[in-house]
Amino acid sequence: MFSSIIFSPFCTPINEKAKEMPFGREKQMKFIEKLRRFMQGRYGSDDLNRFLIFAALALMLLGSLCTLFGLWWLALPFNLLEWAAVIWALYRMFSKKIYVRMGENRKFLAVKNRIVGFFKLRRAMFKDRKTHIYKTCPNCKSVLRLPRRPGHHTVKCIRCAHRFEVDVK
Ligand SMILES: [Zn+2]
Repeated sequence: MFSSIIFSPFCTPINEKAKEMPFGREKQMKFIEKLRRFMQGRYGSDDLNRFLIFAALALMLLGSLCTLFGLWWLALPFNLLEWAAVIWALYRMFSKKIYVRMGENRKFLAVKNRIVGFFKLRRAMFKDRKTHIYKTCPNCKSVLRLPRRPGHHTVKCIRCAHRFEVDVK
């Protein structure tokens, strides 16, 4: 009769709990599986989304600083922009129109590269301002780096082979 006590319904809840022991582990796995299934066929994150989250954090910081200094009227637009960035990032993350989102990301990267390139060029121009000059090709608009040799020169563009005159002081 001893065994009948062990397997009595009275004991089962304890045994069930013991089985689940690594507490919440199963629930965690179920949640991850659910999330995985939810994200299936959805876009997820990319460069533009990371930028949006970063921008939202920066805007949040600016908004907080404004509130701290009593400039609530200035904090409001920052907060609105912050929310717009977060909502846009979430919308893109859960979107199922993957190709549209990829196109947006490509456009974002093109703009970003142009801005980064602009500042890199300025830095390079400043760095070797004593040894080189920078001229824009009148034909293809690419920027050429030329040795700073005083006099009148004919320059041949390396990209489009167009020739043009340059005076170096
Ligand atoms: Zn050219």
